[in-house]
Amino acid sequence: MIELSALTKRYGKFTAVDGLSLTVPRGELFGFLGPNGAGKTTSLRMIAGILRPTSGAVRIAGVDVAVDPTAAKSKLGFIPDRPFIYEKLTGIEFLRFVAGLYDQSGTEVEHRARELLALFDLEEWRDELVESYSHGMRQKLIISSAFVHRPAVIVVDEPMVGLDPKAARILKDLFREYTRRGNTVMMSTHALEVAEAMCDRIGIVQGGKLRALGTMSELRASAAAGTEGLETIFLRLTGENAARELVEVLDA
Ligand code: ATP
Repeated sequence: MIELSALTKRYGKFTAVDGLSLTVPRGELFGFLGPNGAGKTTSLRMIAGILRPTSGAVRIAGVDVAVDPTAAKSKLGFIPDRPFIYEKLTGIEFLRFVAGLYDQSGTEVEHRARELLALFDLEEWRDELVESYSHGMRQKLIISSAFVHRPAVIVVDEPMVGLDPKAARILKDLFREYTRRGNTVMMSTHALEVAEAMCDRIGIVQGGKLRALGTMSELRASAAAGTEGLETIFLRLTGENAARELVEVLDA
């Protein structure tokens, strides 16, 4: 479970995240959507405990990140949008290293690491240095590293970027199975069709504030959108009027 209470981040006078309150319960795959600059990455970094909120609180599986960061982080796997990865480690060494950060090692970790590498077709690359990995392979290794210590909560920023169709499918299936087992996923994405197909509930942020929250049918109702898809609902709720602006640009 992820609980956000009035979570706020200010940079000087600018408020990037503005009093965000939200609960993502166990077993839920939650989609975190919003236009560029809405505050998604800032929120996810605060949830992951790598950016300090100006005010408000984050609880991961009942543990307050500010009060007991080590305990909170042990329950969390974070997949950032721009991950840091050690080039001079091999794939398997990187997974062992990440497990070690959580005080985990030994046969269970070896078994899990092997399973994850096999799942993402990285078995043959396990003993190659990360510096020789392609962008998508790095992304798959980072995703694997978020799962290696068996966290109860996964927070992920734009997971599908750079993945080929097979890897994207594997990741979707992994998230579904993982939440079916009672874990929690909060994922930001611009891929609205992915969010629509996968997520149990969706939150749309804009200007650091939560503009809409609910299942697809609840969002449709709040946007008076009939049977329309998430793209129409998103554009309606966030007030984007690209078509008009496009005409203005072309006429200018
Ligand atoms: P995108 O979809 O483009 O990735 P986002 O929703 O993830 O956007 P954030 O990266 O959270 O948006 O940024 C939210 C706002 O906070 C933006 O206006 C951004 O310019 C601002 N911001 C983020 N980091 C900083 C920083 N370190 N200093 C000042 N402003 C920042």
